[in-house]
Amino acid sequence: MSRPLLGCIADDFTGGTDLASMLVKGGMRTIQTIGIPQRRLTGTDAIVVALKTRTMPAAQAVRESLDALRWLRQEGCRQFYFKYCSTFDSTPRGNIGPVLDALMRELDTRFTIACPALPENGRTVYKGHLFVGDELLSESGMRNHPLTPMTDANLVRLLAPQTAHRVALVDHGVVAKGHEAIRAAFDRCRQGDARIAIVDAIDNDDLHRIGAAAADMPLLSGGSGLALGLPENFRRAGLLAASTRAARPRARPGRMVLLSGSCSVATNVQLERWLRHRPGLKIDPLALHRGEDVVAGAVAWVLGHDEPVLVYASARPDEVARVQAELGAGPAGLLVEAALSSIAARLRQAGFDKFVVAGGETSGAVVKALEVTGLRIGEPITPGVPWTQSIDAAPLSLALKSGNFGTADFFAEAMRQCP
Ligand code: ADP
Repeated sequence: MSRPLLGCIADDFTGGTDLASMLVKGGMRTIQTIGIPQRRLTGTDAIVVALKTRTMPAAQAVRESLDALRWLRQEGCRQFYFKYCSTFDSTPRGNIGPVLDALMRELDTRFTIACPALPENGRTVYKGHLFVGDELLSESGMRNHPLTPMTDANLVRLLAPQTAHRVALVDHGVVAKGHEAIRAAFDRCRQGDARIAIVDAIDNDDLHRIGAAAADMPLLSGGSGLALGLPENFRRAGLLAASTRAARPRARPGRMVLLSGSCSVATNVQLERWLRHRPGLKIDPLALHRGEDVVAGAVAWVLGHDEPVLVYASARPDEVARVQAELGAGPAGLLVEAALSSIAARLRQAGFDKFVVAGGETSGAVVKALEVTGLRIGEPITPGVPWTQSIDAAPLSLALKSGNFGTADFFAEAMRQCP
């Protein structure tokens, strides 16, 4: 039985899918699991264990990440990858730093890198500063994120209070020189007292060079972009076939619904585009809080339409702020996630088997409610967002979108490309 090569731990579901999609594009057969599966997986070159650890207390995030690492080691993976958001979503308490520290300890490795850049989606890192498009992270829409507002763009400064170790920077001057120069810089960090290096990357060539330099590192961390260079490492080592194709889900009749709990800038634009021509129903968190049966109303509304429709809680920052002032950010988020998950579960019972979900946390909650244990990753709808098929007995088709991903017509495009 062939063993998987790369074992990944993602701190949220759509982030996991984004990474899995990148690996598929590089020719690695990839399965994304929802948490740690109860069975062995076969016929895959990479496994992405998707957790929901991004915003939980650091100690719990560490525990769950370590459990995932131990399971991936048992499966035979030889290199490990901690995947977080390309906008470095975290707070001064974590969870990127605490999880990295714990994974390094468990793998008995002294050094790792943190490379969130994803240039094809406009996330670049230069002199340690993270840009979202043309703006610094701290000036982008991420400064208003409901759970992890990002108010500093300097990644060295951002990561420092999260880790017990010194954080260094391998800057673009080094990265541009090629993988040998990068590897030498990693060695210098190792010989000094730095144990995590932020690595600049402004385009895919940089990421390929960084990937090549990291071929022998037991642990890597970053957004999905860092994965660009990894399949080639395994190919060079004779461990991976020259090319494989993404799994093609079988086309099946069935009904589709779209759900959105993402309040990110891109999702709000996509939502507005969808609502111009197609039906959408807005969920009010305050009505949920008052105990109104919003879920039953939404399910009935969806069932009353023949075509795919969109149910959303997504709102603009000022509206989110008003809701959060009344309910608290955490409780408001959980209320919305629970409502969208219940809607999904009830629609599944009513025969729906195709779900498009916007929002990382939201997708995590929905997938759990649908009792999905794993996804075989198919072709991308847009970079980082593939259609996937669940690996369970009664397969579902799912497209899980991280907040800021996708072009303005994402929802219609997802519908059009559904297998
Ligand atoms: P993204 O991928 O865009 O970050 P997430 O689903 O990860 O989206 O996070 C968005 C969070 O905001 C979720 O916890 C969601 O439940 C919450 N949320 C959604 N709509 C609202 C709203 N109207 N008011 C407050 N919180 C909301």
